[in-house]
Amino acid sequence: MKKYNFNAGPSILPQVTIDQTAKAIIDINGSGMSIMEISHRSKDFEAILDEAVSLFKEILNIPQGYSVLFLGGGASMQFCMVPFNLFEKKAAYLNTGTWASKAIKEAKLFGETIEVASSKDANFSYIPKDYVVPADADYFHITTNNTIFGTEIHTDLDSSVPLVADMSSDIFSRPIDVSKYALIYGGAQKNLAPAGLAFVIVKDELLGKVSRQIPSMLDYRTHIKEGSMFNTPPVVPIFAALQTLKWLKQMGGLKVMEKINKEKAALLYDEIDRNKLFKGTAAIEDRSLMNICFVMNEKYISLEAEFQALADSKGIVGIKGHRSVGGFRASTYNALPKESVQVLVDAMKEFEQKHLV
Ligand SMILES: *Cc1c(COP(=O)(O)O)cnc(C)c1O
Repeated sequence: MKKYNFNAGPSILPQVTIDQTAKAIIDINGSGMSIMEISHRSKDFEAILDEAVSLFKEILNIPQGYSVLFLGGGASMQFCMVPFNLFEKKAAYLNTGTWASKAIKEAKLFGETIEVASSKDANFSYIPKDYVVPADADYFHITTNNTIFGTEIHTDLDSSVPLVADMSSDIFSRPIDVSKYALIYGGAQKNLAPAGLAFVIVKDELLGKVSRQIPSMLDYRTHIKEGSMFNTPPVVPIFAALQTLKWLKQMGGLKVMEKINKEKAALLYDEIDRNKLFKGTAAIEDRSLMNICFVMNEKYISLEAEFQALADSKGIVGIKGHRSVGGFRASTYNALPKESVQVLVDAMKEFEQKHLV
């Protein structure tokens, strides 16, 4: 049966990424060897890494003075790498969900960590807007898209202190003004590549200012100097990332992606708002374009399992909501076709017909 993959992460990737990676796992460039069996310092792999870095910069329009790194350890490793490299006296964090909270927990190990605002009081259903970032903070950390709660910061914030963003689940979903950020990082497994890879975009001039010793492996300067080859990088995920980057370019880049993502999200949010059985959980102005959370209206809460069964029967995969929100979450990452959203919307309409006549 055809599957409509709404998984939150790891999640859907472009078919061409999967096909090309499968091929390279069997035979890379007609060499008679798998990409898994060649040296990361071979010409074949170095060309892959170089092209991935340069396409990454091109597609995101990254200005001079920034480095792009591909590292192991996922986004969670960055929760501690960021403070290791940037935290001297004080850091500010915006608490918008589970991942933000985890980042805060790590920062606290390094010193005074100010939570400038939190939406925890309303189960992280909105993005706080009124807060003050201390002028003497070393950096201000945000999570642009809250994968679990389905909220998103839709603009590039102005910040008087260096701005650090976890963009694990909305990188490449829209154009961003990289010059407004000191550092952007994320795990690759939401919108780019298989798990095991993190990307980091870092403004070079901000490094080397903290007084602590930093273990080599956790020091961004090591990885900049060695071109992400200080140790053996995750070669297969980097190869896959390159395929996704080529696909993004061929699709027309991030303006086009943003337009498609807005259309897909509007299609589903319109149905959530129209359909009497369902309701959205996130504040309307903060609704994520990548992770769309919805629940059954109180009156129909007992129908949840039945809707899940209907979705299963139609090949709709991965819409069970995270346990901290409940209900449903449809992740509509770049690679998800609009057709898949239509299948879900049709299932919701069919379900309403069945229960509301
Ligand atoms: C998935 C996710 C993470 C964790 O990523 P790992 O690569 O598993 O460490 C962190 N932040 C956000 C916003 C995420 O969506």
